[in-house]
Amino acid sequence: MLDINEAHPLSDLMNFLRSTGASTRPEISRATGLSRTLVAKYVELAIEEGLAIEGELGTSTGGRAPRMVEFNHQSGYLLLAQLGASGLSVACADLRGNIGEVSFIATDIADGPEIVLKQVEQVFKKLKNQQSGALWGIGIGLPGPVEFSTGLPMSPPIMPGWDRSLVREQFMKTFNAPVWVDNDVNLMALGEYSLNQNSKNQELIYIKIGSGIGGGIISKGILHRGAQGCAGDIGHIAVGELSNIVCRCGNVGCLEAVAGGAALAREANIAATKALSPFLQQQLKKNGVLTGTDVTQGALRGDNWCVDAITGAGQQIGKILATLVNFHNPSVIVIGGGVSSAGDLLLASIRQTVYSRSLPLATRDLEIRLGDTGDGSGLRGAAEMVMSELFSPAILTQWVEHGSPHLPITYQQGGLA
Ligand SMILES: [Zn+2]
Repeated sequence: MLDINEAHPLSDLMNFLRSTGASTRPEISRATGLSRTLVAKYVELAIEEGLAIEGELGTSTGGRAPRMVEFNHQSGYLLLAQLGASGLSVACADLRGNIGEVSFIATDIADGPEIVLKQVEQVFKKLKNQQSGALWGIGIGLPGPVEFSTGLPMSPPIMPGWDRSLVREQFMKTFNAPVWVDNDVNLMALGEYSLNQNSKNQELIYIKIGSGIGGGIISKGILHRGAQGCAGDIGHIAVGELSNIVCRCGNVGCLEAVAGGAALAREANIAATKALSPFLQQQLKKNGVLTGTDVTQGALRGDNWCVDAITGAGQQIGKILATLVNFHNPSVIVIGGGVSSAGDLLLASIRQTVYSRSLPLATRDLEIRLGDTGDGSGLRGAAEMVMSELFSPAILTQWVEHGSPHLPITYQQGGLA
């Protein structure tokens, strides 16, 4: 087995190659801080193990033109799934995290792990049959709290029957490959970061405003999971003045109970029956039920009640974000999830509240923007989760001399990122 001390420089080298296109050895040395001798040694090892390949000649800076080195991202593939409350997205990716065609299956997460994971398995098997290389790993996102070290869902509020379900073990057994499981919002944060790995995105907070509200934190370019894996779960922070509303977690006055999609739907039904919104009355008559999407749609069409509801939700979310900005000093806040389809109206309300309630220095260069819609960022994040774990020194030593990851594997314990 490769010594752990040797795994550190190899891990640095491979993580750099993963995040860039082709680079010359001097460029790798400058970027990673490894000496030229060490770069030469570990590039040779990476090529020997099939992890890197020699590319074309680079630009000469005087003498002989240096040869480019690049990550051999086609030497294997990943299987990825992002599970939501009412549907799941499944895809294959190359080792750079380029996502192939995404299959979406409408399903109810409350059907329980046996039924839902079987559906994921079926698509995985189909995708596996279309691939020729080695399956390097599997990444799964779940819509609830996950203990990252074990991959176990922990009392997830919208996932009855999933508590401590052996998601990792089931996929390991069926596909004979390493598996990582994380909360969906953490993976969306990671996906937004890995799409643009620039210095600005190194300190990023991702907020998903769907039926509930969740958050993910990237610090120094690394996902911050906290001690148990639930860092960033901001939906259940109390927003004082509306403390009589009971949240699905059992507490009263949580942020998501007053500003999430389910909260908007609840208020919309009241507004429609009180004839406060012509648009919602019409939707209720047409569909028999109102959802958060009706409120975002109404707001986009200029319905006054809906505009006020979205603005109000933005203010409540903005107040909590202002606290996070003062505490964490992010450079980027990305807003995603279904309610974010209200777009500029929601964004303006959040921005205004954050800027008026945070320290001027903390907001001087702060960017607040909308994220990718759909499951793209979550799947991309799942790929990045698997790859960053595989290339972490403690795990890299376990497989590098075989050229590709394999079982058995000892996963990292504790809250290590
Ligand atoms: Zn709550």
